[in-house]
Amino acid sequence: MDEYRLISLYAQRITLAKADELVDAWRTLERIRCRVNEIWQRRGTIKPCYELRKKPPALEIYKRLPGTNCRACGEKTCLAFAVRLWSGEARPSLCAPIFSSNHEHLKAPFLEICSSLGLSELAFNETDE
Ligand code: SF4
Repeated sequence: MDEYRLISLYAQRITLAKADELVDAWRTLERIRCRVNEIWQRRGTIKPCYELRKKPPALEIYKRLPGTNCRACGEKTCLAFAVRLWSGEARPSLCAPIFSSNHEHLKAPFLEICSSLGLSELAFNETDE
């Protein structure tokens, strides 16, 4: 998943579904291509993990959010945001308050659960272009 986009990696090709439009598809594919090449460059230093990961429930994500329902993420409630994050339709950085000093204590647990959802640093570093 790349937010709401579905990406499949094969030995000789990449497929992408649910892109916004053609330009979004090309940008997304280029990001994936760069990421794959970067990982390939440092493949000798990567230690494989064979541990099976279970997707945490949306409620567990909700517990790590500020719970203020401030709507800065575009959702009416923190629970709605947690569900959208869980389904891959939102990215973690949309909850700006969690990255502020007011909620410093929530940042690490939030990032940890995002990581267990398979949200890579791509999801955190992306900016709307
Ligand atoms: S921005 Fe964060 S704190 Fe505000 S409603 Fe969305 S999830 Fe809740």
